[in-house]
Amino acid sequence: CYRRLLQMFGETVLGIPKEKFDEIFEEVKRRRGLKYDIELNVDDLKEIVEKFKRVIREESGRDFPQDPWEQLKLAIEAVFKSWYTPRAVVYRKTNKISDDLYTAVNIQAMVFGNIGKNSWTGVVFTRNPSTGEKELYGEYLDQAQGEDVVAGIRTPKPISKLKEEAPHLYEELKNICELLERHYKDIQDVEFTIEDGKLYILQTRAGKRTARAAVKIAVSMAKEGLISIEEALMMVQPEQLFQLLHPQIDPKFDAKPIARGLPASPGAATGKAIFDVDEAAELGGKGEAVILVRPETSPEDIHGVLASRGVLTSRGGMTCHAAVVARGMGKPAVVGCEAIRIDVEAKKFTVNGVEVKEGDIITIDGTTGNVYLGEVPMVEAEVTGELGELLAWTDEVRTLGVRANADTPEAAAKARAFGAQGIGLCRTERMFNAPDRLPIVQQMILSWKEDRKQILEKLKPLQKEDFKQIFRAMAGYPVTIRLLDLPLHEFLPRLEELVEEVTRLRLTGGNPEELKVKERMLKRVMELTEHNPMMGHRGCRLGIRHPEIYQMQTRAIFEAATELVKEEDLKIYVEVMLPLVSSASELAYLRKIVEETAEEVMKEAGVRVPYLIGTMIEVPRAALTADQIAQYAEFFSFGTNDLTQTTFAFSRDDAEAKFMAYYLENKILPYNPFEILDRDGVGKLIKMAVELGRKARKDLKIGICGEHGGEPSSIEFFHQIGIDYVSCSPYRVPVARLAAAQAKIREKQRNKQG
Ligand code: PEP
Ligand code: MG
Repeated sequence: CYRRLLQMFGETVLGIPKEKFDEIFEEVKRRRGLKYDIELNVDDLKEIVEKFKRVIREESGRDFPQDPWEQLKLAIEAVFKSWYTPRAVVYRKTNKISDDLYTAVNIQAMVFGNIGKNSWTGVVFTRNPSTGEKELYGEYLDQAQGEDVVAGIRTPKPISKLKEEAPHLYEELKNICELLERHYKDIQDVEFTIEDGKLYILQTRAGKRTARAAVKIAVSMAKEGLISIEEALMMVQPEQLFQLLHPQIDPKFDAKPIARGLPASPGAATGKAIFDVDEAAELGGKGEAVILVRPETSPEDIHGVLASRGVLTSRGGMTCHAAVVARGMGKPAVVGCEAIRIDVEAKKFTVNGVEVKEGDIITIDGTTGNVYLGEVPMVEAEVTGELGELLAWTDEVRTLGVRANADTPEAAAKARAFGAQGIGLCRTERMFNAPDRLPIVQQMILSWKEDRKQILEKLKPLQKEDFKQIFRAMAGYPVTIRLLDLPLHEFLPRLEELVEEVTRLRLTGGNPEELKVKERMLKRVMELTEHNPMMGHRGCRLGIRHPEIYQMQTRAIFEAATELVKEEDLKIYVEVMLPLVSSASELAYLRKIVEETAEEVMKEAGVRVPYLIGTMIEVPRAALTADQIAQYAEFFSFGTNDLTQTTFAFSRDDAEAKFMAYYLENKILPYNPFEILDRDGVGKLIKMAVELGRKARKDLKIGICGEHGGEPSSIEFFHQIGIDYVSCSPYRVPVARLAAAQAKIREKQRNKQG
């Protein structure tokens, strides 16, 4: 105990690196040929204690204080100071906890799980934190202190063994766990110690759980009558659903794993094996897929875990640091994979003759514990079982609609499977991204007016077929199709490259035909190149200058819709949306073109499809003149990506790469406004535009289709200001459904409180 006090006090209070103590401890164990700390005898411990004291003196410049009151005072101070350690700062940032709060200090009498026989210490969850199954789940060690369990020093025993070793204590523990769960109405993570046959509860807190477990626990607790449906809905964080929809390893895949460890946090991940925490943080931060491979992890490694796709450790049990942290973050983890021999220095591991070096691709499956060499095929997750039940409950509670942003038939089908009630944004320019279409689009942009019509004729059947498939996937639900909002710079050949090529062809006297084509292209690209492409010739401006593009698209939309009505008797609801409008006159101009074309097609087809014409609100002037714009729009959809860009005058292409990180670090902004809606500025504009718009047109439909439409805290705001629906990427649809239900529940709670 004294050895432990010196070490923990040295590390935690005096800030001495852990390795300084570990080296001494390991050296004595090695010299004596011992594996476990409990095998050390009194003389060994005396030697270690003397050496520890010396380390403390050398490293901190003071002797270990022998007065317990002074120890206590310094320990309390250390807890308060810990608020600003990098570890705590990162934790708060990840969990969106304000730095302005304070921490508390708990002081408890010590109990000794290492006092001798009949003494144990362990950690137990009231339900399985991986699967959510209702069972006592955890592990414990003989003759040990709590730290030893979480540190993964010895491999602990599963809690079910305690039932055999000390049945009455197991029963007592089980009863206490049930009581705690009933009281807190949530799964508990309980630390206990048995000192010479007497059970003590050291701590209880809400248990960290996987997304899968969170859903199961919430749904089962509601069914057990422990909590209400609304309480169950509040128990799952919307973001967790996103994790749950991660791909899983294809069950049909039967390749041999190279090793198997404990399935500590479910889901599968593929990436480069990286053995150094800082390196993992750096590579992961750059967007590379990384699997962090370590003997074990500690809280100092949190930045590396955060940036990795998954974690593999050779030591530790189901409640070791890596397991707990990965579950909390929703990252796959395989721990205690003892078969792999990690050489941290050489940055490699070996297992059964296979060597995996730094940068080699591996796949881990945190659901089974399997580790594979290379990439493994994955399958998409499905909304079934408890997740299906929970999501069905959200639909009963929420009043905010949820649609999806989808540009392909596959995305539309996925969106329906995830419960989207329509498409809120189909970006038609994204439909041009396919390799067989890009050259046609480039040709269109580069072509002179006379041959553009011809090129458009080539694009129309492709667009029409896409629309048909999307309408089919969304039959019975509205589909908002946005006419072309082409960021020219994304589709044009790069000016610098063209200049280089033309120069090369001129200098080398290359193929004269090729030179002519390139020169013509260069001339056109130079004409089209803009200083501020994001504020340039895009959106409805392009449509106004080249109405034949919007006419072609409107034709494709209505030909697709009328054919489906005639041939397949489907219910199609078309919403045509015009982008980047800043004045009512722009909309009036384009509305006429769209209306005339639509009517023409429907007349030719001899059938009508219900349709609306609306606009995106994504520049401040549109928001400011929303009442005028509403005269020509049957719906608004806020493009909060552009609206954030144009309100802040932050380029959405550059801000995040250039200065956003600095702004956030230095608290110049509290969060990235491209991720979380800026309520004070952008939100104020939206609120105003909603009010102005509805004043001018009572039945104006209003949606959101920027990235914020899938972000929970922004969704709460959209609910509060009476938006009709949000639209987000298909994978975020379940997140948005839950966030919308939670917004409604919170509103009810507020109203109840008056
Ligand atoms: C937006 O600006 O928020 C939007 C949805 O349009 P895009 O992202 O395509 O510009
Ligand atoms: Mg936009």
